[in-house]
Amino acid sequence: MGTYRKGNAFYKKSNRKNDDPGHRNMIIAITSGKGGTGKTTLAVSLFHYLAEAKNEPVQLVDCDVEEPNCALFLQTEKTGEHRVDIRIPVINPEACTFCGKCHEICAFQAVIMLPPASFIEVVEEQCHGCGACSYVCPEHAITENDREIGKISFFRYREPDDFLEGRLKVGSALQTRVIRELLEQVNSRGTVLLDAPPGASCPVVAVISQADYVLMVTEPTPYGLNDLQIMVETVRQIGKKAGVVVNRTGLDYAPLYAYLQQENIPVLAAIPFHRKYAEAYAEGMILSEAFPEIREMMQSIVKAIGS
Ligand code: SF4
Ligand code: SF4
Repeated sequence: MGTYRKGNAFYKKSNRKNDDPGHRNMIIAITSGKGGTGKTTLAVSLFHYLAEAKNEPVQLVDCDVEEPNCALFLQTEKTGEHRVDIRIPVINPEACTFCGKCHEICAFQAVIMLPPASFIEVVEEQCHGCGACSYVCPEHAITENDREIGKISFFRYREPDDFLEGRLKVGSALQTRVIRELLEQVNSRGTVLLDAPPGASCPVVAVISQADYVLMVTEPTPYGLNDLQIMVETVRQIGKKAGVVVNRTGLDYAPLYAYLQQENIPVLAAIPFHRKYAEAYAEGMILSEAFPEIREMMQSIVKAIGS
């Protein structure tokens, strides 16, 4: 009988390298309830500001693995890449006695078996590579092959600051696994910015659970408020400190501010809706580099967070 694999991130409680109190870092997760709110704009602006302002290392980690796009704004040099694999079981029907143990233990219904037809197979797309079926098989009928589910790329920004990107392989649904492996690479010192995926589902929880502070980006619309409320609930359940950046202010939506006041959630910055920002974004510019007023906002955010 086999053993659960070491290094299987799926079962890890914490993967932070900064558990040593002598090597404390500050991790800020940047989130938004939905895509298109300005989360990446804020992440790269904050990264650029911190890289210029801090003497210690600053790291940006693009955890939006389905659609990573921080790299579009940064002039970086790629320094490495590694594959993220899972171990996919392969069942030998000759050795299998169709006892059903692998089928029963699989939490993802990935083992299909039809004993009368002597048929047993693993549906790769549903398999999470947890190793449980191999572990329970009494006949040693299960071997395993590597299957790529994504990639992690390493980039140098400006010494000593770096940038990491996780990218999910097209067709794979294992975002959280790629994110967990990405999070194992975060710096143990300095400031780390995690650009989280949009929404409030498992991949986002995986990111914010590693953070010291959650910066939630929203916009003053009914949709923005609705998504923010879900995000606030999630962040509170995990027990993280949090603040809000309101993007595209101008056509202000009063219920958003009433909610923030009622819930005692600080607004750390309000970025006005302005054509010049939209044009700069479309040209791949970093707003805090292009506009002094945005740089000042980044400075206030950092001061408020205490990074
Ligand atoms: S490795 Fe885990 S997820 Fe995949 S088939 Fe086996 S029990 Fe199911
Ligand atoms: S646990 Fe092993 S022997 Fe039992 S059904 Fe699965 S592969 Fe076959």
